[in-house]
Amino acid sequence: MRKIAILGATGSIGASALDVIARHPRDFRASVLAAHRKVDELVALCVRFQPDLAVIADEALETTLRDKLATAGLSTRAAGGMAALNEAVAGDLCDTVIAAIVGAAGLESTLAAARAGKRLLLANKESVVMAGALLLDAVHAGGGELIPVDSEHNAIFQCLPGGRPELGAAGVRRILLTASGGPFRGRKRADLTTITPDQACAHPKWNMGRKISVDSATLMNKGLEVIEAHWLFGAAAAQIEVVVHPQSLVHSLVEYADGSVLAQLGNPDMRTALAHALAWPQRIDAGVTPLDLIRSGALQFEAPDRDTFRCLDLAYQALQTGGTAPTVLNAANEVAVAAFLEGSLPFLAIPELIEATLDAISAEPVAGVEHLLHTDLTARQTAQRKMQQGFC
Ligand code: NDP
Repeated sequence: MRKIAILGATGSIGASALDVIARHPRDFRASVLAAHRKVDELVALCVRFQPDLAVIADEALETTLRDKLATAGLSTRAAGGMAALNEAVAGDLCDTVIAAIVGAAGLESTLAAARAGKRLLLANKESVVMAGALLLDAVHAGGGELIPVDSEHNAIFQCLPGGRPELGAAGVRRILLTASGGPFRGRKRADLTTITPDQACAHPKWNMGRKISVDSATLMNKGLEVIEAHWLFGAAAAQIEVVVHPQSLVHSLVEYADGSVLAQLGNPDMRTALAHALAWPQRIDAGVTPLDLIRSGALQFEAPDRDTFRCLDLAYQALQTGGTAPTVLNAANEVAVAAFLEGSLPFLAIPELIEATLDAISAEPVAGVEHLLHTDLTARQTAQRKMQQGFC
């Protein structure tokens, strides 16, 4: 019986993870559930899954959470604040941690789980973008394991011998990351001047949280995934190619020196990656509809439109610059996406704000977690200031 902590339990990944866990009550138990501010949703999950501990990251809501758990007649303990979250993932209540907080807010708890030697199921791509080397060091030092949950990286993991070998020794030539192309595939810049948040979040294939949905619409999601692939698989930027595949059935591919290309296919449903990561190296039922290749029809592949969706190249540039540049890229993107979702920044200004922020802050070698957190804050303040100054 594995004891699972789900950070971001009230989110889209949290729901998929809990669905898989509920299908295997003899193998998995949700022992820690955590959310940011959605107390009622968290309590409803506690009623259903009866975890040992519920954590609300916003400390001000700890008493509310405790009262509501008591009113519901649950023995689940309540805790509040990020320090409590970090303590919970490192403690004995769990042996597996699903890192599914959205954004840089997930960095410290992801690192805490890695340092504590947990099986880390990583959905929170922003933490590996910001702190790839530190995260891998923490996994190594903790003696645990990291299994990617992002569907593309989970697919690559499945296509590599032994999951994460040294690529050259394994005869790997290239990694091909597939991208759906998002809701605006085929459109040009002139078609995107009046895009609303709801239009950007209406992803054609995946049902996801609003931040990653906007990232998919700008192709920043793929940019973040290029950086993620660099760290998780030790691939140079030039070895990682993005291929638009609108059907979202091929989740990524690995090309070998002998010309073989291995792909992982399946219906677009995050429960596949989560079930794979939870049970690895076994295979379990995920509740996912089997892929019917005859009914699914032709598969298309095309090059991304880098002129219209400039975020992809900004991410490649940040990866090549290295040091703190990916942290700045990520922070500026989070500020830009939040402003877009609030209606205060046009869709097309998202890459402009990120580029202006990257230009304003010189990249430095990463000196540690505190340095990255400081860089993240500086980049957020710079992006906010540029928005106030009406940079575009
Ligand atoms: P959602 O927006 O659906 O959920 C986010 C979760 O994070 C919620 O539980 C939220 O709590 C919690 N959260 C937000 N801010 C904080 C914070 N400051 N402290 C603690 N918890 C916080 O996001 P997704 O589930 O879509 O995505 C989660 C992560 O997984 C992202 O990094 C995303 O890129 C990645 N991912 C998602 C995929 C998907 O299909 N959705 C696919 C691949 C990767 P509350 O509800 O209380 O606000």
